[in-house]
Amino acid sequence: MLSDGRPIGAHLPLGTGMVRAAERAAEIGADAIQVFSDNPTAWRRRASPPAELPAFRRRLKALGIAPLAIHVSYLVNLAGPDEEFFERSVAILRDELVTARRYGARFVNVHIGSHRGRGSEFGLARVAESVARAFADGRDGPDAQDSLPDQTGGPTDAASSEDTPGPADDPILVLENSAGGGFGMGASVEELAAILDAIAARGVEPERVGICLDAAHLWGAGYRISEPAEVDALVDRFDRAIGLPRLRMIHLNDSRSELGSHTDRHQHVGAGQIGSAGLRRLVTHPALAGVTYFLETPGMDEGYDAINLDRVRRLVRGEPLPDLEPHELELRGSRSRSAPADEAPAR
Ligand SMILES: [Zn+2]
Ligand SMILES: [Zn+2]
Repeated sequence: MLSDGRPIGAHLPLGTGMVRAAERAAEIGADAIQVFSDNPTAWRRRASPPAELPAFRRRLKALGIAPLAIHVSYLVNLAGPDEEFFERSVAILRDELVTARRYGARFVNVHIGSHRGRGSEFGLARVAESVARAFADGRDGPDAQDSLPDQTGGPTDAASSEDTPGPADDPILVLENSAGGGFGMGASVEELAAILDAIAARGVEPERVGICLDAAHLWGAGYRISEPAEVDALVDRFDRAIGLPRLRMIHLNDSRSELGSHTDRHQHVGAGQIGSAGLRRLVTHPALAGVTYFLETPGMDEGYDAINLDRVRRLVRGEPLPDLEPHELELRGSRSRSAPADEAPAR
């Protein structure tokens, strides 16, 4: 927890074990955790929940790690014109909403996707349709019923009693801003507002849908958040266009891309183009105290999870950040992007 009580977490890999990831979150002093529930770069979904899920939920609870966010597969495109791709995307989103209830996840975080050149109006209608259908199907569709039976153990299982979905357990769908490359939607606050309006017009309750701002994506989209005054301006702009209560998550990533480049390459906190001053303002802005922060910085499974969390704490305290070596600045995040194993590893 940061000094003013706002929660901070990290996207942690589950490939070496779900319980291990929960324990790692506690070790590095994270409050919250973001994970993949399945392979983020494959359409095929696991047939049944991971065997380790009940133990994972118990461990998170015991350690007080919350909230849990599930990041949806990168393949999903909620805005695209291809029918088959679109139907698969709706199915994955629906599946993740069901999975989130089973995991006890508060947030389902998804990239909005690309209209592939068909224009913003087309994309808006697609996103609204996909979200409305995912929620409708996820709540009372046959797939939800099929996939909900408890496969995790007997009545002594702490998690099983929590598997019955109810309104209080309903996850919040958190749409992430894009850097704007490849006709990616939601690169501006105004377009995010239009997307939320279009979803609400399809009858989805506004409380069920929020926004995640990824700092590296903001930078790629052209928001000069390296300057604290520009962070303040962005916060005001978001509040006017959308309302700050709907800003649920911030991905506190630095960027190695150029401002306005529409590309998205994450960097260690304070070691990229955005730098310390802007990220410090983003993580200490008084109006953002209700937001959950997550790191998606490089080298999560190589010890940089702890290093970057420490860098955030230093930022909050107003301390200078230690320099990183050139090879550290070249680390990639991809090895962190692992889903739970089908079988719990031997421990
Ligand atoms: Zn993301
Ligand atoms: Zn992100």
